Amino acid sequence: EFARGSMLYLDDVSVSFDGFKAINGLSLMLAPGEMRAVIGPNGAGKTTMMDIITGKTRPDHGDVIFDQSIDLTRHDETDIARMGIGRKFQKPTVFETHTVADNLLLSLAGKRGVFETLLAQITGAEARRIEEILETIRLEERRDDLAADLSHGQKQWLEIGMLLAQDPKVLLVDEPAAGMTDAETMATADLLKRIAGEHTVMVVEHDMEFVRALGVKVTVLNEGSVLAEGSLDHVSADPHVIESYLGR
Ligand code: ADP
Repeated sequence: EFARGSMLYLDDVSVSFDGFKAINGLSLMLAPGEMRAVIGPNGAGKTTMMDIITGKTRPDHGDVIFDQSIDLTRHDETDIARMGIGRKFQKPTVFETHTVADNLLLSLAGKRGVFETLLAQITGAEARRIEEILETIRLEERRDDLAADLSHGQKQWLEIGMLLAQDPKVLLVDEPAAGMTDAETMATADLLKRIAGEHTVMVVEHDMEFVRALGVKVTVLNEGSVLAEGSLDHVSADPHVIESYLGR
């Protein structure tokens, strides 16, 4: 019932590994088009939470409701990806020996094989979508360059573009700013802000400057459940949050 009006709704989710509760009564709700930042000390359960949402890990208890009605705990990883939940891991994985534009095309035409896709006539709709994404990720000028020649930050943006090409409803993004320069970090925050609205976005991040630049509601995880929620200023003034970070 509380899933109404939500794009992603975790209700009292728990999972244990060898008796250790990595996720412990976690409840979380993202509205359609919302961007949320998730922070928390090491071991708080951030990765496990994303593994549960994407079907990599099955929870022992609780519901994970996607788009108000689909119980993700009943689906496997492939199904969940196909239903529109995209995940960006920390390290960029682009096709280094292909151009920026071809990386996007390959992702857009995902179901066709690599050679079929690159040899086939590209449709007008595909070409337009690639241009749109190039603009969103600000790599128009690099379209014909090999992905291998991009900076670390640009590769991250390209990979975000490749996810966009699959038209996901929800995007889970794991530490996008890791290893970036300050300028790239701020550009990444701007990029995610352009994407939110059309997509629901959950960003797990350690870099507080980056979280501040996102300017969205923050959820603090600790010991597998939500410790605090609100603006970055609100949660960073919370004594429990301060203790959870200092206590490690
Ligand atoms: P975070 O991403 O916030 O650093 P994780 O989700 O990686 O936290 O881990 C939460 C806790 O669960 C940690 O104590 C971790 O050691 C434990 N954990 C995670 N995955 C497994 C696993 N497959 N087997 C055993 N323990 C795990």
